[in-house]
Amino acid sequence: NTPLHELDPEVAAAVDAELNRQRTTLEMIASENFAPQAVLEAQGSVLTNKYAEGYPGRRYYGGCEFVDVTEQLAIDRLKELFGAEFANVQPHSGASANAAALFALLKPGDTILGLDLAHGGHLTHGMKINFSGKLYKVAAYHVRESDGLVDMDEVEALAKEHRPGVIIAGWSAYPRQLDFAAFRRIADEVGAKLMVDMAHFAGLVAAGLHPNPVEYADVVTTTTHKTLGGPRGGVIMAKQEYAKKINSAVFPGQQGGPLEHVIAGKAVSFKVAASEEFKERQRRTLAGAVILAERLSRPDAKQAGVSVLTGGTDVHLVLVDLREAELDGRQAEDRLHEIGITVNRNAVPFDPRPPMVTSGLRIGTPALATRGFSEDDFREVADVIAECLLPGFDEERAAGLRARVEALAAKHPLYPGL
Ligand code: PLP
Repeated sequence: NTPLHELDPEVAAAVDAELNRQRTTLEMIASENFAPQAVLEAQGSVLTNKYAEGYPGRRYYGGCEFVDVTEQLAIDRLKELFGAEFANVQPHSGASANAAALFALLKPGDTILGLDLAHGGHLTHGMKINFSGKLYKVAAYHVRESDGLVDMDEVEALAKEHRPGVIIAGWSAYPRQLDFAAFRRIADEVGAKLMVDMAHFAGLVAAGLHPNPVEYADVVTTTTHKTLGGPRGGVIMAKQEYAKKINSAVFPGQQGGPLEHVIAGKAVSFKVAASEEFKERQRRTLAGAVILAERLSRPDAKQAGVSVLTGGTDVHLVLVDLREAELDGRQAEDRLHEIGITVNRNAVPFDPRPPMVTSGLRIGTPALATRGFSEDDFREVADVIAECLLPGFDEERAAGLRARVEALAAKHPLYPGL
């Protein structure tokens, strides 16, 4: 029972340093968030010791009576949160949720139609060297060059040409809402199943601030750690008719024992996601993204060749377009890192720069909203980011911006109980 600091000081020091990094910098990676302390507690609990292959009430191991309780709570709360007929909470990650969902709906060699990775799609939506690109034939739709929006005419034309078994609607980098009704109509026209991967925007859906894909799709997958704000993991929801196939695709199809400590954390986070406090947090998440988009669309930004894709945002992130700027994606990411703001560079559609450099930044507000940032705080963050990216950045300005970042971080203490 030796504590971590005594048993393994090297690992403990790295954990402490990471906590300090999270506390003292501004986390603006759009796919990250801060799980509540109660979720960390559940994840660090003795449930990690338990083997529980199977599902609640139907396990292949003895002693599952208590993990049955937590897993059933997670299933019931998830179904309630999104109005789903069926839920599987066992996928270890978003990628394994997508692998299992596709495994349940398709045979190897069938065709999927998903958003191109270079236009904001995810690896698991058909990237060449991902399982999705190796197991299935892939057709990819795109955003229009003129307005940056998903081209539904192209989706329809490709669906008619390739007759996919599954159409995937969902994204990792896209600042607008998808038209689920149009995706449903196209899927029905060609006899395809519709799968929505709402990994990025699930928290907004839970708060009623984004259309709910569960009403339209055959299957909906999501991660639990992005806007949803829970532990790192994945889940699948579906119409009841797919229940057996999906359960069997997750276990034994893709996984062995479920991570019951993580599933308990998922249950806690679904309870939190049903609360008024969570809705209010998602409202601030959206407001913060709009403030950021507005700041980076002003004339001083335009003059420096900086703009935001689609001219704004309806979600928790902004895609900064640096195609016309002197600064490239990598330099912009490094510069923000230097003043204590963490973001990721991101290729923009039709990006002329190579993938390791890119002409874009993806900046998200979920983690800061969780930390308690108000609209005024987001205005200050937006000004700091603009002053960092626009011309005139030097050592003196960097020092001033760093101090403003530190002040914002100090104003909203993170995990004060840890
Ligand atoms: N789906 C989408 C849309 C994502 O953006 C991501 C992660 O970035 C995933 C799936 C995969 O999630 P994970 O990293 O948990 O495998």
